[in-house]
Amino acid sequence: ERIVSGETQREEEWAELSLRPQRLSQYIGQQTVKENLKVFIEAAKMREESLDHVLLYGPPGLGKTTLATIISNEMGVNLRTTAGPAIERPGDLAAILTALEPGDVLFIDEIHRLNRAVEEVLYPAMEDFCLDIVIGKGPSARSVRLDLPPFTLVGATTRAGMLSAPLRDRFGVVSRLEYYTHEELSEIVTRTADVMEVEIDVNASAEIARRSRGTPRIANRLLRRVRDFAQVRADGSVNDAITNQALELLQVDKEGLDHIDHKLLRGMIEKFRGGPVGLDTIAATIGEESHTIEDVYEPYLLQIGFLQRTPRGRMVTHRVYDHFNLEVPKL
Ligand code: ADP
Repeated sequence: ERIVSGETQREEEWAELSLRPQRLSQYIGQQTVKENLKVFIEAAKMREESLDHVLLYGPPGLGKTTLATIISNEMGVNLRTTAGPAIERPGDLAAILTALEPGDVLFIDEIHRLNRAVEEVLYPAMEDFCLDIVIGKGPSARSVRLDLPPFTLVGATTRAGMLSAPLRDRFGVVSRLEYYTHEELSEIVTRTADVMEVEIDVNASAEIARRSRGTPRIANRLLRRVRDFAQVRADGSVNDAITNQALELLQVDKEGLDHIDHKLLRGMIEKFRGGPVGLDTIAATIGEESHTIEDVYEPYLLQIGFLQRTPRGRMVTHRVYDHFNLEVPKL
C-alpha cells in the first residue's frame, strides 16, 4: 500500500472516524462547495423539505464522505451509508430505501459502480420518492407502486464522467471537490494534531502539508506516521527536523512523490527523452495497467504541472528536470 495513496487503508478506518469534522464550520477549504451547500441546507430547512440530491465528485481522500456526514448533521437527520458495489440486486436497494425515515441522507459511495438494474430502481425513488416493484413472474407478474419517505441521496464518485447521463441528471446539486492548497492542508494538520493531542509546530505542519498531494487523507496519515517517529526518536512533539527525517525514511519527497512516481517520471526521461509517449507504452515500461496510471498516478502529476497531456501522448515538463536536478535536454 502506497503511503501517498488517497484511498483509505485498512488500519486507518477507526482513526479517520474520530478525525472527521462534524459541522460545515469545521470543514476546511472547498469554499464554493461549502457556500452553496450552506444556502441549500438553510433553504430546505426553512421549507421543511428534504435537501435536494447531491452528487460529489473528485479524487479519493478529499472529503466526500465527510461532507455527507456534515450534511446529515446540519439537516438534523440520520445518515445511512453504503457503496455502489455493495448493492447487488434491486431488492437490496429497496430494503435500504424502505427503511429510511423522512428527510434521511442516504450516502452511496462509488455510485458509478451501481449496476443497471439497481440504477433503474433508483430513478423513480429519486424523482418521485416511490418504488416500482414487480411481483410474481411471467404472465401473472404485476407491478405495484410503493411510496417512500422523502430523502436526500448523496452520491460520491471519483469521476463524474463514469456516471450514466440519466443518473447524473437526477442530482439537483453537483459539486466538484478540488485538491487543497498548502495553507488549507496545514490548517487541517493543525486541527488533526489538536484532536490527537499532539504538539506540532507551524513549520512541521507546513512541511506535512506540502508533501500531502493536496489530499487531507494523506496529510492525516503522514501526521500519524511522523508522530510515531517523534514518540520513539524524540520527546513526542513534532517539529520540522523530525518531520523531515521521518518523511525521508518513508520515502515521500518534497513534492509528495514516492518511488512509483519517480519510476514513472524517470522512466519517461531515460527511455523516451521526456516524451511525448503514449499511455500504453508508459504502462508497459513500468509494469502497470494503463487505467491505473490514468486514475491513480497521473492526476496529481498533472495537477502540479509535472506531466502534460498532448495529442501525441504524455510529456514531462521542465519542472521534473528541476525536481531531479537534471539538465533539460536540448532539442
Ligand atoms: P473521501 O470520501 O473523499 O475519500 P473522506 O471524507 O473520507 O474522503 O476524507 C478523508 C479524511 O480527510 C477524513 O478522515 C477527514 O478527517 C479528512 N478531511 C477531508 N476533508 C476535510 C476537510 N475539508 N477538513 C478537515 N478534514 C478533512
